Amino acid sequence: MAILPITLYGDKILREKSKDILKIDDRIIKIVEDMFDTMHNADGVGLAANQVNLDKSIFVIDLRPVEGYEKTKPLVFINPKITLRSENLVPHDEGCLSLPYIRAEVIRPEAITIEYLDINENLQKLETNDFLARVIQHEYDHLIGKVIADRVEPFIRKKLKKDLLDIKKRNIDVDYPVTEI
Ligand code: ZN
Repeated sequence: MAILPITLYGDKILREKSKDILKIDDRIIKIVEDMFDTMHNADGVGLAANQVNLDKSIFVIDLRPVEGYEKTKPLVFINPKITLRSENLVPHDEGCLSLPYIRAEVIRPEAITIEYLDINENLQKLETNDFLARVIQHEYDHLIGKVIADRVEPFIRKKLKKDLLDIKKRNIDVDYPVTEI
């Protein structure tokens, strides 16, 4: 078990596109375990690899702390591709472990289809339209170098400017390990 420092807004790797995994070997399995440990320690429900400083196309989701999702299984998405997005868009408040204390309304497609490899290297296809679809899209954004601050209306982004700068400069207190500048 290892809890890794989480990258924060301003860290370059959060702006980079992740690289596909060629083989799911022991090293990747260890990374996935560490990602779950790191996410659980920070009370998050989703975490992408570049949030632990790795440019790999992996994210993990565990919605069990969310009301109504207590019985769901933790999910690992390797080399994911969103193949379908509904035309219907819905707003929802989002937060992010890499942007502590920020909550912002983000408008996203209500339903998606995603294809990915699971930890056993089996190709999976998932169609979803609920909170899971929301979290998947948030994590998928990380893998293409985007964060919620890029997805909000310009007037909201303006309001967030000072808070984002504080995160960048580490003028914040967080109760989980984060990267240093
Ligand atoms: Zn995030």
